[in-house]
Amino acid sequence: MNLWFLLVPLLLSQPTPPAPPAPPPAPPAPPQTAAPAAPPAMSPSPAMSPSPRTADGQDVDGSWAQGRQLLLTFDDGPDWENTPVLLDYLDDYGVKAVFFVNGRRFTGTLPQTQKSRAVLEELHRRGHVVGNHTQTHPMMAQTPPDVQRKEIERTHAAIKRVLGFDAWLYRPPFGGMTGVSRAVLREMKYTVVMWNVDSNDPFERHANVSFRNVMRDLAIYGRGVALFHDTNSWSTEAVPRIIRAVWLENCHRTARGEPVVEFSNEIEAFWQPRSGKAPEPSLARLQEAARRRARMSAWCDGIRKGAGSP
Ligand SMILES: [Zn+2]
Repeated sequence: MNLWFLLVPLLLSQPTPPAPPAPPPAPPAPPQTAAPAAPPAMSPSPAMSPSPRTADGQDVDGSWAQGRQLLLTFDDGPDWENTPVLLDYLDDYGVKAVFFVNGRRFTGTLPQTQKSRAVLEELHRRGHVVGNHTQTHPMMAQTPPDVQRKEIERTHAAIKRVLGFDAWLYRPPFGGMTGVSRAVLREMKYTVVMWNVDSNDPFERHANVSFRNVMRDLAIYGRGVALFHDTNSWSTEAVPRIIRAVWLENCHRTARGEPVVEFSNEIEAFWQPRSGKAPEPSLARLQEAARRRARMSAWCDGIRKGAGSP
């Protein structure tokens, strides 16, 4: 059964519709009976080192993905309650993501910040990428220049202290870039990661709506960078459903010999290098991509055997 017909009415939407004044009623949950549960959990692949910093990098907004890659990004965490649930969901499908963290979440001596610090270490250990989302999530345009710099530098230092590497990916709070923050980021050799696929989860607080919004944007763009917040339980619950829906469509695409949408957190696949030539992926990343494809292929086989031809 093809689930994409459910999205046809949504294709008529504008690519970036303004947020509605009030959340619309939640649509019915998409059918899930055709999709088997996640394949048996495999031991997590060993954590790869963070993507190499590339001087040739440009800002990333999702529209420059070099293939049909989809990057899942999660802002505002780590959250000691929600993020561990999300990490297990992502592991169920072998999907790696990028987490843009706020330093205030995991610095200091409060019990919850110490728990969140352990979550940060764990998500890094499981192969996810960690980026900088400032210390306190201010509206940068209303923040004095010296404080803007401190916001970026403090979280940079905190990530280095906890995880031992120099973060190089930045997501601006509220998506708001300023001239000052851009200058600081350039000086610190950061790449700015925006998004083109939006769950709109701060404003529409329901897993069904997060699911619908992401699938709508993905149907429009076919690839890109998806924005979620791992501080929201409804976003967390939407993620495995999104992965299953994408994989189900991939089963159809594979049967037709078409390229599939691939979940990836390899940032170098998401920008157009100024030289015009994409960097060569490392052996570790090629192996990781092969593992991902094998896992999805086994999932499609499960569908064919358990629920007829997909
Ligand atoms: Zn944020």
